[in-house]
Amino acid sequence: MKFAVDLHIHSALSPCADKDMTPNNIVNMAVLKGLDAIAVTDHNSAANLQAISICAQRNGLVFIPGMEVETTEEIHIVCLMPDLESMSRFSAAVRQAMPRIENRPDIFGRQLIMDENDNVVCEEPMMLLTACRMTADDVTALARELNGVAVPAHVDRPSYSIISNLGFVPEEFGIKFLEISRDCDAALFRSMHPELESYQLVRSSDAHYLGDILERESMLELDELSPEAIIRRLANGQG
Ligand SMILES: [Zn+2]
Ligand SMILES: [Zn+2]
Repeated sequence: MKFAVDLHIHSALSPCADKDMTPNNIVNMAVLKGLDAIAVTDHNSAANLQAISICAQRNGLVFIPGMEVETTEEIHIVCLMPDLESMSRFSAAVRQAMPRIENRPDIFGRQLIMDENDNVVCEEPMMLLTACRMTADDVTALARELNGVAVPAHVDRPSYSIISNLGFVPEEFGIKFLEISRDCDAALFRSMHPELESYQLVRSSDAHYLGDILERESMLELDELSPEAIIRRLANGQG
């Protein structure tokens, strides 16, 4: 069966995201848009995922804990985990590898940590929008070790993508799916990158504003609707 997903959404924890990207707003918008499952993927942090998971559960929306990691090579990789526990181990490793640079909210934006009622609990003081000291190899290996999956983000873009920065996808990463942007012309991308023929593409919004969250336009063939089934599909290339 085919299910509608959006697997790359930022909350107000990402300094570049709108402050209206609260746990309840994201979940309500995803439900309104008719999505079957979403992943929230803030830059280098998982601090809002528990709150969003509670909101998703209340609304019967399938939720996958995610993170958009910026590797040493300045490649953005969306990592999805089957549950919050695996994500907490993943995020501890990323946090350990983050440079201790203080955020400048006036320049980069605020990094809001919220509870399940959209109250701001605190602000993340460390700058999240920066490369961590984990290579793309480290990140993909750790995601796999924790039963998650790594999907190179927005490969059609000229910056922060595995294609723009490395020029290719190393085979040892075991990648089956690449993410394309919301407005990417998939046929044109295919024709420009015949070398990526063996990879499947998944479209995600990379939403920083509520209105950017996808409608039922990114469909995944799954044997069942669950975080595990979505991860299995992306990791193995099949259901
Ligand atoms: Zn990105
Ligand atoms: Zn993003």
